[in-house]
Amino acid sequence: MRFNTILRRLTGVMTLFVSGADFDAGLVVDVRPRWRKPRCGICGRGAPRYDQRKTRRWRHLGLGRCRVWLRYAPCRVDCSRCGVRVERVPWARQDATFTRDFEDVTAYLAQVMDKTAVTKLMGINWRTVGAIVDRVVGERLDPERLKGLRSIGIDEFSYRKHHRYLTVVVDHDKQRVIWTKPGRSSETLGAFFDELGPTGRAALEHVTIDMAGGYIKAIREHVPNAEIVFDRFHVQMLMSNAVDEVRRGEVRALRGTEAAAFVNGSRYALLKNPWNLKRKEKQTLAAIQRNNKSLYRAYLIKEALAAALDYRQPKRARRALDEWLAWALRCRLPAIVKAARTIKRHKEGILAYVKSRLTNGIVEGFNNRIRMVARRAFGFHSPAPLMSMIYLCCGKIQLDPAFP
Ligand SMILES: [Zn+2]
Repeated sequence: MRFNTILRRLTGVMTLFVSGADFDAGLVVDVRPRWRKPRCGICGRGAPRYDQRKTRRWRHLGLGRCRVWLRYAPCRVDCSRCGVRVERVPWARQDATFTRDFEDVTAYLAQVMDKTAVTKLMGINWRTVGAIVDRVVGERLDPERLKGLRSIGIDEFSYRKHHRYLTVVVDHDKQRVIWTKPGRSSETLGAFFDELGPTGRAALEHVTIDMAGGYIKAIREHVPNAEIVFDRFHVQMLMSNAVDEVRRGEVRALRGTEAAAFVNGSRYALLKNPWNLKRKEKQTLAAIQRNNKSLYRAYLIKEALAAALDYRQPKRARRALDEWLAWALRCRLPAIVKAARTIKRHKEGILAYVKSRLTNGIVEGFNNRIRMVARRAFGFHSPAPLMSMIYLCCGKIQLDPAFP
């Protein structure tokens, strides 16, 4: 086999010719595109040559311990559509100083590894990794991801010690992050609905959120036909927090007595799901039932809410929730009444869960993953690189590294 053919095989790029090679701090392979007529770097169509540019190098995947570059002097073409542009080369993306294979491997590693490992393995700095991730995401992120959406989940993500926020939108059906933007206001989310267009907005059936965010207004305004589904676990969390407030109030009221210490230690028994209780915790609950009527009432109300949400039939769930509200609103425990009022205000969205069975669980899952990505690649000073990393790691971008 000829040496140049071996070199071509080694580069792994089948659409190039090798015309020679030399050694200069690594292997430098002289290449050119396999196609005769130059192609426009933007649209890819053939176009007449305009002028010649200087010789350039693209960093390629290394061989053994040896760095490899591809060397070529691209021309500019005069494209009838795009004007004067640098020609397309088959081994690299437009404006890149690395080959496509090198970039795909780097982006793949950035999906699964921490920052330092990627930079050490590939021999580039983190800023460069960011630029590569941008290009790969720009090319590989599904441009159809906002089409035909039926159910979405929305959540905010905080970074930089809760000083900065991103709004993150997840597609429930395809289980991927489809949109993100800095901010967490109604306007931030409004921009998403604008991008959906009238057809996309009309097709939307369910939107899951937790009750806290400022997103309700934007949803009611932009997609009035879509049903808001409040996340069940946030609803129950609200009630758990209220029970805990009652418990702390009791501890304060009983200060100095033996009972105070006992109530203080009852937190887990009160907040755990009943089927997870250990024997000791069951005994704790029984003691509270005997000795502390208010706290036990709070506990029963919390459990009754969970039972109401367990109903599978919307009618029954509605009746159970109405009965629950009547009870909770009149229980004379201020913390519980306050939480019950919030639940009453959001009643329809809470009952929508019974019909759709959608929760924000998947969105929360992505939130955790984003937190990991943000931690792995610490030092995001502007939101743009973080957003690219979110799309790379949570946007279902499949990368196949070029290793055989
Ligand atoms: Zn063009």
